[in-house]
Amino acid sequence: MNIEANKNLAPFTTFGIGGPADLLFHAKSSEELARIVLTAKELEVPYFLMGKGANLLIGDRGFRGLMIICEIAGIDFLDDNIVRAGSGVATYPNLITATVEKGLGGLHHFAGIPSTVGGAMWQNLHFLSPAPDRSRTIFIAEVVQSARILSETDGIRIVDKSYFKFAYDYSILHDQKDIVLSVDFVLKHGSPQKLHQTMKENLDWRKSRHPDLIKFGSVGSIFKKIEGIGAGRLIDLCGLKGKMHGGAQIFERHANIIINRGAATASDVRALIDLAQVTVAKEQGYELVPEITFVGEF
Ligand SMILES: Cc1cc2nc3c(=O)[nH]c(=O)nc-3n(C[C@H](O)[C@H](O)[C@H](O)COP(=O)(O)OP(=O)(O)OC[C@H]3O[C@@H](n4cnc5c(N)ncnc54)[C@H](O)[C@@H]3O)c2cc1C
Repeated sequence: MNIEANKNLAPFTTFGIGGPADLLFHAKSSEELARIVLTAKELEVPYFLMGKGANLLIGDRGFRGLMIICEIAGIDFLDDNIVRAGSGVATYPNLITATVEKGLGGLHHFAGIPSTVGGAMWQNLHFLSPAPDRSRTIFIAEVVQSARILSETDGIRIVDKSYFKFAYDYSILHDQKDIVLSVDFVLKHGSPQKLHQTMKENLDWRKSRHPDLIKFGSVGSIFKKIEGIGAGRLIDLCGLKGKMHGGAQIFERHANIIINRGAATASDVRALIDLAQVTVAKEQGYELVPEITFVGEF
């Protein structure tokens, strides 16, 4: 097993922020992942599992323990409309492109969102229903059939969708340290042309509203949705769009997003999060609750 010491985590996140992990391991198979987790438990080494780091803010002082990056690969078509994907597979482009090529729809709604299959299960990945109405939220839970997990208590087992208790930005994985190894998705046949059309519209939507990740790191929305109002709108109403702290900035086009303008630290991001929370509470009377996960020492 190739375990690296004192490894900077910033390059493994979409924010491009985060100090060193004492230990770092890239798990390339279910067997490797199960083995390293059992070893960490036996040796009482704290561990954390990450995918693309697209929903994490890792502290500037890093993570004391073992960071495991989930890179379990594999996309297998089991049946006419069922696909099994390893939990380290990128939903976009890898899994979505492979399924759309077969004329299978369901996952295509999530084109352009950085995620692994495991991260998508954790947070119940979601996006709006296709244009022009965009009136409904579509969740990845809608196409999950079952999953193979390394359970916190019972070893490796197969569980069905209901096990995950999916809700908005929630699955049971928030409260139980189970690890997803692979997921079976049940998809619907559709015209490849129509699937491509929806993907293109969703990608265009993102391009016009979200930062270009190649230029500016981010983790998408920072705060949980506030039904009927919008966390971003509240921050905007307080005049905080464009506000900077060190290398971090509240994004000009969408105030629920913070971007890394190049040399942002986790403390810079935390300062903007605090500022938004305090100002919105004072001026608008709403509590902003972060939807991202804070990892390690700040
Ligand atoms: C530009 C941008 C746009 C975004 N837009 C959206 C959007 O439209 N909709 C949306 O829902 N999200 C969006 N996000 C947030 C993010 O893409 C999702 O939360 C994504 O699912 C995170 O996946 P990840 O692999 O990066 O997980 P990570 O951020 O690495 O980890 C997130 C959590 O998942 C857990 N986890 C990871 N792998 C496993 C596994 N195998 N088993 C168990 N737990 C695991 C981790 O322990 C951690 O707690 C956006 C992010 C960015 C950067």
